Amino acid sequence: MKIEKICIVGGGTAGWMTAAGLAHRLQNSNIKIDLIESNQIGTVGVGEATLPHIRFFNNTLGINEASFMKETKATFKMGIEFCDWGKLGDRYIHPFGDFGMPINGIEFYHYWNKLRLSGDTSHLGEYSYPVVAAQLGKFRRPDTDSSKIESTFGYAYQFDAGLYAKFLRRHAEKIGVLRTEGKVIHINCNNENGFIESVKLENETVISADLFIDCSGFRGLLIEQALKTGYDDWSKWLPCNRAIAVACETRGKSLPYTRATARKSGWQWRIPLQHRTGNGHVYWNEFISDDEAAHQLTNTLEGPALTEPKQLYFKTGKRRVMWNKNVVAIGLSAGFLEPLESTSIYLIQEGITALIELFPDKTFPKSDMVEYNQRMDLHYERVRDFLLLHYVATQRDDSEMWNHFRNLKFPESLQDRIDSWLGRGYIARYEFGAFLPPSWVAVMNGQNLNPKAYDLRVNSSSSLEITQKVKSLSASINHAVQNTPDHQSFIELIGASINGTT
Ligand SMILES: Cc1cc2nc3c(=O)[nH]c(=O)nc-3n(C[C@H](O)[C@H](O)[C@H](O)COP(=O)(O)OP(=O)(O)OC[C@H]3O[C@@H](n4cnc5c(N)ncnc54)[C@H](O)[C@@H]3O)c2cc1C
Repeated sequence: MKIEKICIVGGGTAGWMTAAGLAHRLQNSNIKIDLIESNQIGTVGVGEATLPHIRFFNNTLGINEASFMKETKATFKMGIEFCDWGKLGDRYIHPFGDFGMPINGIEFYHYWNKLRLSGDTSHLGEYSYPVVAAQLGKFRRPDTDSSKIESTFGYAYQFDAGLYAKFLRRHAEKIGVLRTEGKVIHINCNNENGFIESVKLENETVISADLFIDCSGFRGLLIEQALKTGYDDWSKWLPCNRAIAVACETRGKSLPYTRATARKSGWQWRIPLQHRTGNGHVYWNEFISDDEAAHQLTNTLEGPALTEPKQLYFKTGKRRVMWNKNVVAIGLSAGFLEPLESTSIYLIQEGITALIELFPDKTFPKSDMVEYNQRMDLHYERVRDFLLLHYVATQRDDSEMWNHFRNLKFPESLQDRIDSWLGRGYIARYEFGAFLPPSWVAVMNGQNLNPKAYDLRVNSSSSLEITQKVKSLSASINHAVQNTPDHQSFIELIGASINGTT
């Protein structure tokens, strides 16, 4: 009953990540993997910022970091800077890492919270090595010695997603994935159980398989158009439904972070790559026209535009189930959550990881499907809550959109988390979910949600001990950052620069 053939429909980031991931993990299992993609249709053409998890994906495939960065024109990313979210003029970085280092086994932010309540006015970000380094445009890889402050962070990349798909394609083809160019025009389902048996291309080629992976993008060719799985619409919470993207020339120093600036009817991204800067305006069309959104974007570019503005339409939410019969949806076909925290590629990766772990046989056991769907639901729901936090933790009252969010009733799961933070600065750790407590702390703190009390565990250290530790932490961060190279120099140092090769 072993699966003998897998067919992946779609060759965007999701399709090629899935192909490379499955081919690598299922090597020597004698399973044939076909991937169908259509140049005529193309890919969504955005998706440049990532989370640190991508490093584990690349490492598993044995990808060399410097050559990957060179080929995808990538920069390093230590976090995301949020501008104007809490109040106009506010600015904070959500770092991929910790604030300080634990004292007596308790997270540093609890101590800082106690100091804040007793009148200390320092910012939490001052105690984060990745925040201070990123702000100064510096980067190095994390130290492997966990006693050092330079070990307290992770990092991701900002890259050209189209080039990443091409890079993975070469990798996947080398390990046996067979690519077919063509447009799927018909899907054949079994009359009795509704399972997909084969797909037919425009040129009459028929490709059959036991397991189909739908990586066809927003259209959800197999999971929705063929299987009518249904979509959980989350736009009542995350109503932004359009985006305009445009690349421009970079001005100034190469920064190791993405920026997300809140606007009156949405927000704008800035993603610096080695050869250009990606920009986009995500907005809610109820409050702004497409023309005005494009105008606002193009008016705030730091350098001349390099591409024509590209318009995108979406509806936030997720497929009711992501594994239905013999189809697993991965990527945009599985759902979409706006790119505020660069989570889509991470969700692709989680889909691949869960599929490999729960890899079925031809009987498609219900238990595997249920487990997969529950796990992916949790991932999507937790990302949704985290994104929504940015919108609802606001004091802005300068536009209809912000007034809407200040009065929004949001999911209980998010309310509980906010309440527990406001109570004593506590954030529970999830088993499944992209974001660890420091990420939640970064956003809540950065957007002015201040706990009323502190965690009593910190009283086990005397005030003198806390003050001394905080002082020495500041000194070690300043010292470490001084010794951290500039981001651009580090890219050159490791042989990942595209200079001279463009
Ligand atoms: C505005 C915006 C910004 C984003 N920013 C980020 C970001 O910063 N970070 C991040 O992680 N993610 C981001 N994303 C999400 C990211 O773009 C996607 O998750 C990623 O590109 C994967 O897309 P995909 O492969 O699922 O779909 P697509 O790129 O749309 O690929 C679909 C594939 O299916 C093929 N196909 C479709 N129909 C057929 C057919 N009939 N026959 C044959 N082939 C077919 C197409 O040819 C294509 O190869 C963003 C998305 C949007 C909309």
